[in-house]
Amino acid sequence: MLFKEFAEFCEKLEKISSTLELTARIAAFLKEIGDERDLYDIVLFILGKVYPPWDERELGVGVGLIYEALENVSGVKKTKIEEMIRDLGDLGLAAEELTKRKKMATLAFEELTVKKVRETFDEISSLTGEGSRKRKIMLLTGLYGLASPIEARYLTRLILNEMRLGVGEGIMRDAIARAFGTDPEIVERAYMITNDLGKVAVVAKNEGSEGLRNMRVQIHVPVRMMLAQVAESFEQAMNEMKVAAVEWKFDGSRVQVHWDGKKVTVYSRRLESVTNALPEMVDEIKRCVKPNVILDGEVIAVKDGRPMPFQHVLRRFRRKHDVGKMVEKIPLEVHFFDVIYSEGETIDLPLTERRKILESVIKESEKVKIAMQTITDDVKEVERIYRQAIDAGHEGVMIKNPNSPYIPGKRGKHWLKLKAIMETLDLVVVGGEWGEGKRSHWLSSFELACVDTTTGNLLKVGKVATGFTEDDLEELTELFKPLIVSQEGKRVEFIPKYVFEVAYQEIQKSPKYESGYALRFPRFIRLRDDKDVDEADTIERVENLYKMQFELKRQ
Ligand code: AMP
Repeated sequence: MLFKEFAEFCEKLEKISSTLELTARIAAFLKEIGDERDLYDIVLFILGKVYPPWDERELGVGVGLIYEALENVSGVKKTKIEEMIRDLGDLGLAAEELTKRKKMATLAFEELTVKKVRETFDEISSLTGEGSRKRKIMLLTGLYGLASPIEARYLTRLILNEMRLGVGEGIMRDAIARAFGTDPEIVERAYMITNDLGKVAVVAKNEGSEGLRNMRVQIHVPVRMMLAQVAESFEQAMNEMKVAAVEWKFDGSRVQVHWDGKKVTVYSRRLESVTNALPEMVDEIKRCVKPNVILDGEVIAVKDGRPMPFQHVLRRFRRKHDVGKMVEKIPLEVHFFDVIYSEGETIDLPLTERRKILESVIKESEKVKIAMQTITDDVKEVERIYRQAIDAGHEGVMIKNPNSPYIPGKRGKHWLKLKAIMETLDLVVVGGEWGEGKRSHWLSSFELACVDTTTGNLLKVGKVATGFTEDDLEELTELFKPLIVSQEGKRVEFIPKYVFEVAYQEIQKSPKYESGYALRFPRFIRLRDDKDVDEADTIERVENLYKMQFELKRQ
């Protein structure tokens, strides 16, 4: 397929706001794509993704490289390009303008295809080390050289993972279902198991519902993790469950461990591999766990028998160099609480059966443990376990339905969590403001948004300026600087990439933000760099918390 066809289609989508119409248009477009590889790429590209989330490859192209490539094709300098972004609104539109002014030498003689874009992306993401920056700029210059103005707009947005089409995973799921005559729920399940909507679309096209139903969990392909809902109280949780499997809620970081007898892969909650950062854990898993399994658990950092704050685990996960030093500094333990695969998929078995399998595949050691579990119908017993967990330095309890299957990617009523502190929100950082005086080189406040899962849009809910130490601000400024896409006075806009956990005094209704809500006195707690943008809290969650606090006040 010509990349131009894709770009022109995106332009049409950009003008549509109705979810139904977007779904219908995308379905019709997908249906017409003959080539499998094109279909795979187009599904990802419309979502602004180059690779599925768990793929270890990434483009590693920031705005800086795009400026240089655009300067090469147009002769326009970076400062001027920045001005254009301010006038036009985004780098995509600026790229479109700039390609209109292409120098003769870079005028295209060949038409850009989706395949060519994909191959160039693959080459860019394979580059590392010395000379890679230069080569990346060359490859990008080549792409812009072949691109017509409208292609340049969407090429740029694709590289920045921000298509601005208002198409989220929900719309894409429905469009795939509609294009290939299957049910959105079947598509959803296949997606949660494979984490690859491109692949799901190809199977839907070739093999229909049957093919999707037959898609199975595979070792070394991460599965979306099952998630928990908040319980309002012990009583409410036990009314819901009647009989529950109660476990401690460990305050660490979620991991999914795949072990086939040759290789262990450890995926973080974002489904990124953190295997290389955890060599001692990998060795211990090989020693203690029977192969051909996928296990679900929580890694915690422990010193002198007490859990260390959760950020330490993330420090371990992030570490790329001198990993050995960190192994001693931050000792880890993993507490497994579920099994997704053992010589075959186990997700449809009830929790009690999965628990038996879990106990049969793990020989516990100092570092590898099975989370303690009590089956009870007694509220008092749940409260006792809760206090025990808090006394041991953990977060609270998980109250699980003993008969429930493992539902990948689902935040449902089968798992309820009860924590000690008021619920915080995990929000996407979409903009910020430079500080004043001494702090003028630092970003000093950050705009926060929640996710609208249907459209994929980010809806602002407030601005956080307290809770940061000076070190935080310095680090965050470095982190966010490369993500700035536009600036107006002191205000800047970022490519949405990071999530902050924030506390607040209350949620108010407010016409000020497009979400319709505003946080009162938000306070920064931490950077949740284990969470992806699409894992941030949703507008529904904000609405629910708003209603919950309202009811509490009335009591
Ligand atoms: P939250 O991140 O607040 O939505 O809480 C859910 C998280 O608690 C899960 O994603 C796990 O990382 C963590 N967790 C800790 N202990 C358990 C447990 N026993 N069962 C399930 N999840 C747990």
